[in-house]
Amino acid sequence: MTGGRIARAAALPARILFPEGLVLGALLALPLFPAALAFLQPRGPQILALIVTAGTVLGWRFARGRLVHGLLVLVAAAAVPLLPDATPARSMATMLVPLAIAVLALLPDRGILTRGGLRRTGALIVLSGAVLLLAELRPAVESDALSSLTFSALGKTLGAPMVAFAAALLALATLAVATRAAPARGAFWATAGVLAAHLGHPGGAPYLMAAAGLVLVVATVEDAYALAYRDALTGLPSRRALDELLERTGRRFVVAMVDVDHFKAFNDRHGHDVGDQVLRMVASRLKRTGGGGRAFRYGGEEFTVVFRGRSMEDVTPHLDALRASIQAAEFVIRSPDRPKKKPRPVLPSRRPLKKLSVTVSIGAATRGDRSSPAAEALKAADAALYRAKDSGRNRVVASG
Ligand code: GH3
Ligand code: MG
Ligand code: MG
Repeated sequence: MTGGRIARAAALPARILFPEGLVLGALLALPLFPAALAFLQPRGPQILALIVTAGTVLGWRFARGRLVHGLLVLVAAAAVPLLPDATPARSMATMLVPLAIAVLALLPDRGILTRGGLRRTGALIVLSGAVLLLAELRPAVESDALSSLTFSALGKTLGAPMVAFAAALLALATLAVATRAAPARGAFWATAGVLAAHLGHPGGAPYLMAAAGLVLVVATVEDAYALAYRDALTGLPSRRALDELLERTGRRFVVAMVDVDHFKAFNDRHGHDVGDQVLRMVASRLKRTGGGGRAFRYGGEEFTVVFRGRSMEDVTPHLDALRASIQAAEFVIRSPDRPKKKPRPVLPSRRPLKKLSVTVSIGAATRGDRSSPAAEALKAADAALYRAKDSGRNRVVASG
């Protein structure tokens, strides 16, 4: 394993856990305290109503169909224990809930009062109707094919049919693969809340569904935050995030402006898509800037790195290492005559792969103390960047 891969593997649990996993954990832990349980359990339905109302308003305001439909599923899930135990309807309902949450999270959001959104609402109503009809038609307990799949010992311990567990585990596994994005991460932890209900968590179904609903709300807010503060192409924090950081920070810092050299010519020669790939590659190097540097996409092919609490002396070697690492990264462009399908046997390519390299110029400036505005430092870094361009590019120039 390379160092990068180890770091990524270590970051995975953190990425799955934060913040929705912690929110759910805290909400599940609350009823374990007798005083909290005495308060929460009888008020489960009211807490659920409150969260569903707030979440629906939020979802409606920002056209998040996924949230509104997810909350609808949770309301239905809170009613599942009202169905008679060990009946086909109950088994079907417990099985459908996690699957519906997972499917909603993985499908693209289609809004609420749009045709796609209304179709989803309709599908959820039809499914709930089918469960109720089944409860009406087959109230008998003896011949429940689904419930008879319960492994008797395990079923007794866990108190729910195996198929429902299998469905919940399937939903969790599918969502775990997709947990990078906030909606899937939220759905993962909401499903975990549903599973806690199967396992007989003392909070009771309405409280647990309220907890799961709050997790969906948190995931929606996280997703909106990511849209506003992260650049979609490179995954770096955006200019807005940079502006806020510079406004907030009272410390001295070094700020560096990084600009790709001759990028317009590169774009013109190889196309916009290859240009985008270059920006991603440059961003991936920027993310690994040493010396505590935090990288942002300033806009276009310009990036900013902020080193809080550092002096120019501290950061210059890191900036030069960054510049060198981008220069050293070879960029392979696939030959246009490359067949779409791999031929068998694999033939040597007629044209060799084109290897390109990109360089960046960097201008850096220091803000000495909190009395000088952060924008001044940014301007000075920009002026230093122009000097780096003028003096031949592919270099680091410090202001002053
Ligand atoms: P210099 O070495 O002086 O910086 O030259 P340059 O060509 O890099 O500078 P210029 O600012 O003229 O060109 C920037 C180009 O970046 C223009 C624009 O087409 C391209 N660009 C901006 N944003 C994107 C993007 O998101 N993707 C791609 N592919 N190109 C972009
Ligand atoms: Mg530029
Ligand atoms: Mg440029």
